[in-house]
Amino acid sequence: MEVVDKNKQYDAIIVGSGPNGLAAGIALAQKGKKIKIIEASDTVGGGARTKFLTLPGYKHDVCSAIHPMAMASPFFTTLPLEKYGLKWITPRFPVAHPLDNEPAVIMDLDIHKTASELGIDSAAYLKLFSPIIKDFNDLLPDLLGPFNPIPKSPIKVAKFGLNAIRSASSLVNSKFKGDRSRALFAGLAAHSIQPLDNTATSAIALVLGAAGHAVGWPLPEGGSQSLSNALAEHFTYLGGEIETGKMITSVDQLSEAKAVLFDITPKQILSIAENQIPKSYAKKLKSYRYGPGVFKLDLALDGPIPWKDENCSKAATVHIGGTFEEIAEAESQVFEGKHPEKPFVLLTQQSFFDQSRAPEGKHTVWCYCHVPNGSTRDMTQQIEDQIERFAPGFKDLILSRNKMNAADMQTYNPNYIGGDINGGIQDLRQLYTRPVNLFDPYRIPNTSYFICSSSSPPGGGVHGMCGYHAAQAVLNFLN
Ligand SMILES: Cc1cc2nc3c(=O)[nH]c(=O)nc-3n(C[C@H](O)[C@H](O)[C@H](O)COP(=O)(O)OP(=O)(O)OC[C@H]3O[C@@H](n4cnc5c(N)ncnc54)[C@H](O)[C@@H]3O)c2cc1C
Repeated sequence: MEVVDKNKQYDAIIVGSGPNGLAAGIALAQKGKKIKIIEASDTVGGGARTKFLTLPGYKHDVCSAIHPMAMASPFFTTLPLEKYGLKWITPRFPVAHPLDNEPAVIMDLDIHKTASELGIDSAAYLKLFSPIIKDFNDLLPDLLGPFNPIPKSPIKVAKFGLNAIRSASSLVNSKFKGDRSRALFAGLAAHSIQPLDNTATSAIALVLGAAGHAVGWPLPEGGSQSLSNALAEHFTYLGGEIETGKMITSVDQLSEAKAVLFDITPKQILSIAENQIPKSYAKKLKSYRYGPGVFKLDLALDGPIPWKDENCSKAATVHIGGTFEEIAEAESQVFEGKHPEKPFVLLTQQSFFDQSRAPEGKHTVWCYCHVPNGSTRDMTQQIEDQIERFAPGFKDLILSRNKMNAADMQTYNPNYIGGDINGGIQDLRQLYTRPVNLFDPYRIPNTSYFICSSSSPPGGGVHGMCGYHAAQAVLNFLN
């Protein structure tokens, strides 16, 4: 068993400055620990960075854009991030879901207004989501933590679990009769990046849907970089150090730390530290599974997207893919290694809500679709055809494009193995037992190494809770 070497310069070094690396750094610095974060890129933020990707004056979120999970995070919400300039913009309508030949489904912060959009399924929608919204704050510490056989709110978690464990297909078939509610649920469930008949694909739909009504789907003014900058500034205010532009290729570069936290994924940990971790653990890391990748497209537009249904302009996020069946088919194809001709497209239009994103009268579009892991296929045409389907004339407005296929995503951020944006597939077997099924999933057994990235519970998304929980494990080790 590794013992703490008290002569080291740092209590901990964190490899990677994504939201989880920064959260871990803050949680440790808050307890008076001497911490350094080392980041390969020139800027902090990992999957929460903003850059001028197309034309001067057009700011694009390179990865994450919309932050219900940051807004709900039991850790981020305790931090004084507004002091460092972070301003949340919360659109009244979290998401719009356009359909052919009928009005788009518009989710409203007010669940009753949303339910009134859903016709025959109005009561069923209220019945499904109201209890989760009511229990939202009590559920979050359990849902955004490691697996706990004795949850903090056992009855509420059990009630949530009964629906969450089901596949999106099975839940939708048993609860909803109309196309509108089924389509809305498919768009939410497709964030799981899995076939919608996989077990537990309802979980993400229920959490994101409830978050839409409980806290909204906000965006940071100026882009996701504003969140990362605020986290980094708070970390340095607490005494933390950050070194950017340094890629760690071996744990030998980290010998000045009593503990090391990896904000990176199993494949990278193996390449950096395989000889220093137990063989049996390394073997399990080798069988860790990554999911499909993404093709990302950022656009500079000469004007707003000309949605057929103008209500789509009122939501920052638009789910494009049509009916439940169409979205389910697209997601299944990706899982079979195919590139769908009609992909499910996640689109955000931040410049409608945040004037700092584009020159006056101009607009930005952020969108991506799911593709097989490692894909190098250009999906621009398929994505643009899907948008044009619900916004005729959209293509004529495009001034400039920035494209990143799944392989480019990994080049941009080595954590996106094959373009997987969640640090490993989040199916039932790897949801709370990631990266390895252990009582303490954060510590690499018998070492002073810890994993704090989205490859640890509770997984992908900008919430910082993997980092927060890993920091608690490090504090136990150091004290
Ligand atoms: C296109 C896209 C859209 C997304 N949309 C959303 C969204 O809207 N909302 C949301 O909540 N989430 C979204 N996500 C997911 C979210 O960005 C990630 O889940 C989140 O960033 C994971 O945080 P992390 O700290 O675990 O890792 P990351 O954010 O990936 O950070 C890891 C950091 O480690 C650095 N690093 C890697 N290897 C090394 C090394 N060897 N040495 C030093 N540094 C290293 C990397 O450069 C990176 O900065 C999206 C992701 C993508 C790609």
